[in-house]
Amino acid sequence: MTERELESLGASCSILTDLRAGREIAWINPSQVPFETASQSCDLTMADIDQAEARLARFAPFLMACFPQLRAAKGVIESPLTPVPRLQEKLEEKYGVRMPGRLLLKQDNALAVAGSVKARGGIYEILKHTEDLALAHGLLTGPGDDYTKLATPQAREFFGQYTVQVGSTGNLGLSIGIMSAAVGFRVIVHMSADAKGWKKDLLRSHGVTVREYEADYGEAVKNGRRLSDQDSKSYFVDDENSQALFLGYAVAAKRLVGQLQALGIPVDAGHPLFVYIPCGVGGAPGGISFGLKQVFGDAVHPFFVEPTQAPCMVLGMATGLHNAISVQDVGLSGLTHADGLAVGRPSGFVGRVMSPFLSGAFTVEDGKLYAYMRDLLESEEIFIEPSACAAIQGPLLLLQRPEGLAYLEKQGLTSHLAQATHILWSTGGSLVPEATKADYLRTHLL
Ligand SMILES: *Cc1c(COP(=O)(O)O)cnc(C)c1O
Repeated sequence: MTERELESLGASCSILTDLRAGREIAWINPSQVPFETASQSCDLTMADIDQAEARLARFAPFLMACFPQLRAAKGVIESPLTPVPRLQEKLEEKYGVRMPGRLLLKQDNALAVAGSVKARGGIYEILKHTEDLALAHGLLTGPGDDYTKLATPQAREFFGQYTVQVGSTGNLGLSIGIMSAAVGFRVIVHMSADAKGWKKDLLRSHGVTVREYEADYGEAVKNGRRLSDQDSKSYFVDDENSQALFLGYAVAAKRLVGQLQALGIPVDAGHPLFVYIPCGVGGAPGGISFGLKQVFGDAVHPFFVEPTQAPCMVLGMATGLHNAISVQDVGLSGLTHADGLAVGRPSGFVGRVMSPFLSGAFTVEDGKLYAYMRDLLESEEIFIEPSACAAIQGPLLLLQRPEGLAYLEKQGLTSHLAQATHILWSTGGSLVPEATKADYLRTHLL
């Protein structure tokens, strides 16, 4: 983009100056409208999420057959919702913010099989593809059939004729790779330069082919898509446009209902729910937030959190250009320690769907991710990866920045904050090897 183009863009997008300077921003989405209005402009509905949930239920016996660690949970991949009162106290003291209400950690860092939020969307999309193939080729007679049939050597041999490919910064590759390999597919994961070595090694140990790229995530996706399109028996998981991934993530919302009830936490106009989710290309935070809006309507307030050098989703949404603009276009590097969030260009699909639903977004400097990581570890003895720690920035900025406070006032929430619940969506961490974890714990950027 030329300076002139950037200047005219800045005239209609007031946060552009701060974004370009790499400053931490609090952005309230001016396009957000009441849930009833928002849902009229949207093709996806609760029925789509119900279907995704039902598909996951059909596959539960198969998942138990593939992954013995899922037997106790009867083939359901779900994470705990953990109260973190000691973290809440620590954040209040250390950062001088008053945080009334309750603070919870949604521990997708502990999701079985893939160790990150990607276990939701990635595994769901592979199961959907598996079911589509199985039904088309008579391996299953219908949705009522016994899905453990798909775990037999004959079925694996059938799936071995097919390839699955995906472009990834790391965690999506792990989820798609491990699940696809378990079904019996051949798998090629196209990894961007920022993907961690241990993720590549882990995938190779599952028999996955890993292709490495010098360039960033966008390039890895482009190449993966091109190679997959050349092969009629190859299926490409398109992180930038996939409705299946999005719906797989959205199922999280339905599961959260029971978890909140079990903790005795109501969600309604007088008991608002704030949710903060780290955002890369947008699929995971978009799908989860979309699901939460379907379930809780106007009582839930979802916010995304992105690195200051890779704020692709807020850039796309705030300018209205969505995937037609990248962080590099406005002079940012796209480089961040938050490897799961190192994305320069957002999903246009997610940006457009979420435009009337999303409350807002925050950005966070890399240095703070490590500080938050230590805060959580010291207060609650829970380790999560730096990318996931972006969530912790959410309540701090919402409750401190003028933009956040104005949002609370305008939504009539200020008097309900003592009854509020804040959920930090912890998106990854349990598969991080000990040596890498030790490196993280030694890292001080501030
Ligand atoms: C992928 C990922 C995200 C964000 O998901 P997107 O779909 O890329 O927006 C957040 N945290 C972690 C740890 C991730 O791996």
